[in-house]
Amino acid sequence: MTQTQLTPNIEIINANLRRGHFKHAVFDFDGTISLIREGWQDVMIPMMVEILMATGTDESEQEIHDLVKLFVTDLTGKQTIYQMIRLAEEVEKRGGTPKEPVDYKWQYLDLLNERIKDRLDALKSGSSEPIDWVVPGSYDLLNALKDRGTRLYLASGTDEKFVFEEAELLKTTEYFDGIYGAQDDYKKFSKKMVIERILRENEVSGEELITFGDGYVEIENTHDVGGVGIGVATDEKNRVGVDDWKRSRLIKAGADVIIPEYRETAVLVPYLYGETE
Ligand SMILES: [Mg+2]
Repeated sequence: MTQTQLTPNIEIINANLRRGHFKHAVFDFDGTISLIREGWQDVMIPMMVEILMATGTDESEQEIHDLVKLFVTDLTGKQTIYQMIRLAEEVEKRGGTPKEPVDYKWQYLDLLNERIKDRLDALKSGSSEPIDWVVPGSYDLLNALKDRGTRLYLASGTDEKFVFEEAELLKTTEYFDGIYGAQDDYKKFSKKMVIERILRENEVSGEELITFGDGYVEIENTHDVGGVGIGVATDEKNRVGVDDWKRSRLIKAGADVIIPEYRETAVLVPYLYGETE
């Protein structure tokens, strides 16, 4: 595989990238469309480090931090509960008595809610606009795909009720033919299941699928069925340029293309759809 640049910001990782019409497109939500939960890692990681340090482990705080960052990142895109299941295992490994993963999940969601409450309130009251809380260029991209007759789906590891609410606040609901999120019974949902269902119900092969995601999981799942995975290495804080950590994880997961956000939709989409050289 050789790497080439389509533009200074769009990196083609897979030299054999298959271009053409895509009938179905799957989107991750947080970090891929929505920025409402921006900074969730800065809530989850310190919480887990604190819990693991409290086991009395002789590892340094830096070592624990690195370990946590790695497993949190690798599980990004899966439902939150999987990160908490892993936390419980790590507590146990260090001789601690873990809480139930679901209790850790609620502890985390309470902390995260503190961080995002003002954002949700501002969107609800109209003091901020949906465009303030989406990855730049999101509406252009969704419109460009819809205009080409591609059916769009949202699949998120966040609890479904939050995804419905936040998709609505960002005025994105109408774009999607299906919106899927995490269920209380976590075995009933996975992005893999969503992808398989789309392919099965529409009797299409993975080659007609394109996925946009900032997480390891959706890119890997797409790669596994032969679809094209666009790694959205958004720097969620600065909203411009590539986040290097995300980029390297996404490439490892099998991303075919790396983009920072959707500011160059007018170049990217015609290229992907084989309309330009
Ligand atoms: Mg994401």
